[in-house]
Amino acid sequence: MTMTNTTSASGKVAIITGASRGIGAAIAQRLAADGMAVVVNYASRSDEADALVAKIVAGGGKAVAAKADVADAAAVAALFDTAEAAFGKVDVLINNAGVMPAGLPMLADTDDASFDNIFDINVKGSFNTMRQAAKRLQHGGRIVNFSSSVVGLAMPGYSVYAASKSAIETMSNIFAKELRGKHITVNAIAPGPTATALFLNGKTEEVIERLSKAAPLERLGTPDDIAAAVAFLVSADGGWINGQTLRANGGII
Ligand code: NAP
Repeated sequence: MTMTNTTSASGKVAIITGASRGIGAAIAQRLAADGMAVVVNYASRSDEADALVAKIVAGGGKAVAAKADVADAAAVAALFDTAEAAFGKVDVLINNAGVMPAGLPMLADTDDASFDNIFDINVKGSFNTMRQAAKRLQHGGRIVNFSSSVVGLAMPGYSVYAASKSAIETMSNIFAKELRGKHITVNAIAPGPTATALFLNGKTEEVIERLSKAAPLERLGTPDDIAAAVAFLVSADGGWINGQTLRANGGII
């Protein structure tokens, strides 16, 4: 990965939810390389979060790990407390934590527990962090929420997951307007198929191969591809983009 050091990022503090692995881990490394102090949030895998923090710190960056279930409002408030205690403030919130059912059941076969889990983490999780951010993000801050290109692709099996991501796009757009006067941008990013456990788990080689070739760029996205787009949105150069959804997907839709 190419590391860049921008003065605009240096000294900023970012919370990245779900950063123990996958796309979130790539974002934490990228923003740390750009000069931000990063809070590596995770749900359960403390070993992976601690290893990532150690790697960032060994490379000269600033990072702490912080356990919090984003679906739990009190835990999210404590996550912001941890960030402020470690680094004095919060400038950037990346709402990356999310879940997708590996079996991708049709709507008629989706049980209540699965529906609730998807909405609790994907929707309420981002709602919880944005509500804290409204009170606690610095003037000039940035929020990036996570949608998915399946909102546009509308493939069978994705109804509840895609619905949760549609909610994210809507909340992002409205929240950007509600923050008028604070000079905080709110955008959503909508990756296409990206090579992480969330995408790969439960899929056959055949399905993975087919989806790998679906975009005109003929490959899966990488976590670094998505981290680069997020780094742009939170940079000074991304400052005029507000209330938008950016599909980062190699052109699949
Ligand atoms: P992933 O590899 O499965 O990683 C998920 C991360 O979220 C892990 O760090 C996990 O922590 C954390 N997490 C899960 N539940 C949480 C909770 N309740 N509270 C806090 N953290 C939680 O997923 P990914 O592929 O990187 O996905 C990242 C985001 O991109 C998600 O919002 C996903 O919907 C979106 N997305 C992914 C793709 C794709 O193809 N991969 C495409 C479009 C959109 P633990 O390690 O502790 O479990």
